[in-house]
Amino acid sequence: MSAKPKVAFYWCASCGGCEETVVDLNADVLKVVEAVDIVLWPVALDFKRKDIEAMADGEIAVSFINGAVRLSEQEEWVELLRKKSGLVVAFGSCAHLGGIPGLGNVTNREQIFERKYTTVPTIDNPGRTFPQEAVAVDGYELELPSFYDTVKTLDQTIDVDYYLPGCPPPSNLVWDAVIAILEGKLPDKGAVLAPNKALCDTCSRNETKPEEFIIHEFKRVATSTPDPEECFLAQGYICLGPATRSGCGERCINGNMPCRGCFGPSDGVVDQGAKVLSGIASILESTDAAEIEATLGEVVDPLGTFYRFSLPSSLLGRVRIGG
Ligand code: SF4
Ligand code: SF4
Repeated sequence: MSAKPKVAFYWCASCGGCEETVVDLNADVLKVVEAVDIVLWPVALDFKRKDIEAMADGEIAVSFINGAVRLSEQEEWVELLRKKSGLVVAFGSCAHLGGIPGLGNVTNREQIFERKYTTVPTIDNPGRTFPQEAVAVDGYELELPSFYDTVKTLDQTIDVDYYLPGCPPPSNLVWDAVIAILEGKLPDKGAVLAPNKALCDTCSRNETKPEEFIIHEFKRVATSTPDPEECFLAQGYICLGPATRSGCGERCINGNMPCRGCFGPSDGVVDQGAKVLSGIASILESTDAAEIEATLGEVVDPLGTFYRFSLPSSLLGRVRIGG
């Protein structure tokens, strides 16, 4: 029997980019494979649920789980992995904060199904056929997972030990986490395995951000090109750097795109979106309520701007539908 620590990777509601990060470890992925016994990795290897169910509780040293939780199947899997694992790491923005799938919390199951199966222009469904959770075919009962109204983060579903942030997490942070786990050099439970400082602190444009400045108007990268050297906020582009944890290597900034906040907040920031919103409100030029409203009205999709990755984990959680 292998004496190597057992490691699992699992994938819930996400795009799969986090799995790419593991592959992006390149030569280091071979060192990981040498050091650990991978017992579950659905994107790359064919393991079955019964293989995991047959394991003793706690037998898996660590499970890296990416993706938010939206389906009953995902909930069952993460509960199973929690039971079988010593450590669980929420891997990437969707597991950590809800991520892009978490923007589904602006709507609900009924509205999503209505759109997807009836009103999308490419759908021809006059009989209004919708997916069923159970259907009998030729004497067999076929089942599909339940689709929940609300997208949840991993720690809204199971107990989580550590968080690896990012959309996706950079492979150097993944490698550092794997080494820390193998060497037993982990911080306190609940820690985010990335530097606890704001992105602005490590951003090369920080020195171009004046101590005090005001915003006259909001600009968008879709309709104008930012100066490639100057702080985005000082130019009027919304950048979530002040309320976002550092550690990504300033990937977007280096591509002349403002930070969208995928690393989530640094410690002590209760609500990333609200923190940026209040910071921006304080640097608007006008003090007149109507003018402020007009300027804020220039922000296209405020929820998607300030809560792009964090809606399920935020104080808002979801949009209330109906009464
Ligand atoms: S606001 Fe954005 S561009 Fe400006 S210093 Fe912070 S991270 Fe850099
Ligand atoms: S700059 Fe912001 S959005 Fe881009 S990778 Fe870094 S933390 Fe994520």
